[in-house]
Amino acid sequence: MKFSPQRYAQMQYRRCGKSGIQLPAISLGLWHNFGNVDDEKVYRKTLQTAFDNGITHFDLANNYGPPPGAAETNFGKFLHTDFKNHRDELIISTKAGYTMWDGPYGDWGSKKYLVSSLDQSLKRIKLDYVDIFYHHRPDPETPLEETMTALDQIVRQGKALYVGISNYKKKEAAKAFKMLRKLGTPCLIHQPKYSMYERWVEDGLLDLLEKEGVGCIPFSPLAQGLLTNKYLKGIPRNSRAAKKHGFLKREAVTPQVVEQLKLLNEVAAERGQSLAQMALAWLLKDKRVTSVLVGASSEAQLLDSLQCLNNIEFGEVELETIDKILKNQIEE
Ligand code: NDP
Repeated sequence: MKFSPQRYAQMQYRRCGKSGIQLPAISLGLWHNFGNVDDEKVYRKTLQTAFDNGITHFDLANNYGPPPGAAETNFGKFLHTDFKNHRDELIISTKAGYTMWDGPYGDWGSKKYLVSSLDQSLKRIKLDYVDIFYHHRPDPETPLEETMTALDQIVRQGKALYVGISNYKKKEAAKAFKMLRKLGTPCLIHQPKYSMYERWVEDGLLDLLEKEGVGCIPFSPLAQGLLTNKYLKGIPRNSRAAKKHGFLKREAVTPQVVEQLKLLNEVAAERGQSLAQMALAWLLKDKRVTSVLVGASSEAQLLDSLQCLNNIEFGEVELETIDKILKNQIEE
């Protein structure tokens, strides 16, 4: 498969914390749209288009599908065909931390779970190592030392090059960073939920990441599709909110939310952007954000989202207007 020689010139790359790794400003996540219920032709094209436009980072987890594991298997299939000659140009991540198999060893943060889950992921993707392995969510019961020691061991065994954590709040993240540094495997990256609709990271986590030299890759930057023009006129068939296996509930698309989205859409139009583009640019305006981790159910969506890179600057008035809309302080 031949990819555009211009692909690296088109993309912006940002250094991931204080590490040797640079990530594309837009990365592609395979949580939805790459399972066995999805159209292989469509997601194959999305993967090709991503790489053709300089997206070098693909994000997986053990449980992505459906069924769980399918996204890794499906990605692996095209990694070894379409991307056969490009493995060393890619950053491939996977995770463990949510329920994956029955019994007490297929969930949370024990060394037993993390090590065996990554072994299973490597078999599904057909790789000797992944580039980043994450602990997917904090475990309130397993000692943090055990989880962090497992991450360190995985790197020493050569099954992952770097490690990350996801969904950790500021206090537990700080402890994890300290332990990992002491073990000699500094944390590369944190993956939090962050979008115009989910701003808890602004309350100290981003400052911590900057201080610790850890990268930040927000997930669900479009609030699973809400922050796009998709739901302005109801809930389209085939949208995530309409799907039974989707994680965005119909009930999330309230008349109040739609009103807010319409106002945000007007601000985006004034900037010459789609709402999706503005929502992504709004995250990338902060240099502490290494990359935004988007999902896409089609090539067209990804191409639309990529255009956000044409304008990631915001004026003060624009930012104030956006904040007012988000706080419902604007009357129509
Ligand atoms: P987004 O918020 O980017 O939502 C993606 C969805 O938005 C698409 O499936 C599509 O919805 C819609 N969409 C995307 N682009 C456009 C566009 N340009 N115009 C209109 N609609 C658009 O992200 P996700 O929630 O999918 O999460 C992204 C990634 O983050 C995941 O794949 C995963 O890698 C990671 N993640 C990590 C988690 C963690 O706990 N660490 C949790 C969740 C996600 P539709 O399907 O309706 O067409």
